Amino acid sequence: MTGKLTEQQVASLKQDLLDRSGALLEEIRQELLKYDSEPYQELAGSVHDLEEQSVADLLVDLELADIDRHVEEVRSIEAALLRIAKGTYGECLECHAPIPIERLQLNPAVKRCVTCQEQYEKVHAGMDHPSL
Ligand SMILES: [Zn+2]
Repeated sequence: MTGKLTEQQVASLKQDLLDRSGALLEEIRQELLKYDSEPYQELAGSVHDLEEQSVADLLVDLELADIDRHVEEVRSIEAALLRIAKGTYGECLECHAPIPIERLQLNPAVKRCVTCQEQYEKVHAGMDHPSL
């Protein structure tokens, strides 16, 4: 089944994205609490008070590997929510083909169709730690 997503499908995927982002922020908070130093404890306390974007920015500065992965995921979720707002959600970033609903349900934050994703991974292979 291909083609445009129905409003209902988008609404349900959006809810998944919001749930996932909430869970990730909680995980980030828990991870920060493991660090026995004041700046991290303080940051952990404020995770829920801040806009998600600010949390992501703060955490990126800390360069903590395991938290970093979660932050990356929060970012891709934010990007997906932005695409929902703009009405471009469910389209491949590269070829603009509709991404099958089955693929979106597996990972609602996915950006590319399978073909473009494979191509992207080929190009970026060995770039696990890209410099900014
Ligand atoms: Zn594509």
